[in-house]
Amino acid sequence: MVLDQEYGMDELPLVANKLAEFVSSYHLFTFEGDLGAGKTTLVKAICDTLGVWDKVASPTYSLINQYQASKENRTFPVFHIDLYRLDSAEEAYHAGVEEIIQSNDLCLVEWPQRLPDLLDGRRIEVRLRVSASGGRRIQVYSHEN
Ligand code: ADP
Ligand code: MG
Repeated sequence: MVLDQEYGMDELPLVANKLAEFVSSYHLFTFEGDLGAGKTTLVKAICDTLGVWDKVASPTYSLINQYQASKENRTFPVFHIDLYRLDSAEEAYHAGVEEIIQSNDLCLVEWPQRLPDLLDGRRIEVRLRVSASGGRRIQVYSHEN
C-alpha cells in the first residue's frame, strides 16, 4: 500500500498531488468505490494538479472524455473513462477503451470492475469510501502487473 489516509475536501489538493507523483511512472489509474465515494471529485483534483483546463466531468454517456494537460512546458492527453454504465466488453472495445489503455497515455478509470481485464495490469489502484467523519478514506496500491 502506498497511501492510506482520511481526507476532507480541504485536503483534496494534497491527496491529488500525492497521486499525481505517480503519473511519471504509471499511466493507468483505477478508481473503485461506491457511487458518491468521491471518485470523480478526485479525478478532477488530479486533473487540476496536472494543469488540465478543460471541464472535468464524468463521461457517463460517452464512456471516455479526453482532456489536455499542460505542465512544465509539456502538454499531454488525459483520458477519463467511466465504465459505470458499461454493458459488455464489446461496448468498451467499440468505444476504443482497450486501445487507449494499451497506449502510453494517461488513463484515469472509474468503475474498472466492469472490465475485469483492467484489474490485472500494471497500475495504480485507488480505493475510496465514505468515512465515519463524513470525509473519505483513500487506500492506494501500486501493481507491477
Ligand atoms: P463518485 O464519482 O465516486 O460517484 P463524486 O466524486 O461525484 O463521487 O462525489 C460525490 C460527492 O462526495 C460530491 O458531492 C463531493 O463533493 C463529495 N466528496 C468527494 N470527496 C469528498 C471528501 N473528501 N470529503 C467530503 N465530501 C467529499
Ligand atoms: Mg463518478
